[in-house]
Amino acid sequence: MDRKLKILKEKCPQNHKCPAVSVCPVGALSQKYFEAPEVDYDKCIRCGKCSNFCPKKALIL
Ligand code: SF4
Repeated sequence: MDRKLKILKEKCPQNHKCPAVSVCPVGALSQKYFEAPEVDYDKCIRCGKCSNFCPKKALIL
């Protein structure tokens, strides 16, 4: 399996608390201030929940 979550920072307005962080079932997403979230690739199971959730399509699997 080589698909990998991509975070498109230019699509994220970076002005709010990222709601996708709490959608991740394994806690792989984290956010500093209102910046675009970061993914811990060691934790991410590539389930796609966050990418389906982000209304800006900033999380792409
Ligand atoms: S793809 Fe799934 S496991 Fe990976 S960061 Fe998104 S919600 Fe978490």
